[in-house]
Amino acid sequence: AGARWKEASPMLSVEHVTKTYGKFTALEDISLTFTPGVYGLLAPNGAGKTTLIKMLTTLLFPTKGQILWEGEDIRALGAEYRGLLGYLPQQFGYYPSYTPRQFLRYAAALQCIPKREADGRIDHLLETVGLGDAADKKMKKFSGGMLQRVGIAVAMLNDPKLLILDEPSLGLAPNIVDDILEVAKTMVKNDGISVLLVEQDITKALAAADRGYVIENGRVALEGTAAELSANEHVKKAYLGI
Ligand code: ATP
Repeated sequence: AGARWKEASPMLSVEHVTKTYGKFTALEDISLTFTPGVYGLLAPNGAGKTTLIKMLTTLLFPTKGQILWEGEDIRALGAEYRGLLGYLPQQFGYYPSYTPRQFLRYAAALQCIPKREADGRIDHLLETVGLGDAADKKMKKFSGGMLQRVGIAVAMLNDPKLLILDEPSLGLAPNIVDDILEVAKTMVKNDGISVLLVEQDITKALAAADRGYVIENGRVALEGTAAELSANEHVKKAYLGI
């Protein structure tokens, strides 16, 4: 995993992707490259965030252009691609009367992960997301931050190479967001995966990111390292109010 991290070959590349709904163009000529690391995607309201996430998770396909995983079209890879994808949706459904361990076992069964393999991984994941002590407590009493950690653990059950988090910080206190981002960074370091943090708030998008993209009106407005983006005049004016 270490070698892969260093060589940083593109894992996912979005190449000149346009998506239209009838006559309306939601995304136009978007190109994005993701190597191992944490990426912040800033997509303010109406920028085309949902459309982009749906394409990255194969719920929608580009009108023009292509999305490649290690050089192969994700549409052609199909289930193979979905098998290496972890996705935390904005609202994730859970059963309040389940404990995290029960819920993860259930999610693993749905993914046809053999029970013995799943149990070991679930123990490890619960520790990773900081729920070791709450693993056997019913989720109905959980805070938003604890539920979000359960969601991330579910998204990581299949040992993803690409983890897409849709506004993971929504409604969470900053210190809890920091904890969750720390989990993402650890996975990047240990497993060399790509984490995409899609946020509507620039500070949240760049907090843990190595690199980032700013998407405005369906186009890539800016890209760069987190430091470059934070220092960018347009970003300062439009998003940071300075
Ligand atoms: P979010 O609301 O999650 O922040 P978003 O508004 O940034 O997402 P999308 O939901 O992708 O992004 O929408 C981008 C644009 O495309 C919006 O103007 C939306 O009205 C339009 N749009 C989205 N889906 C459709 C559709 N099925 N048919 C027509 N227009 C659509």
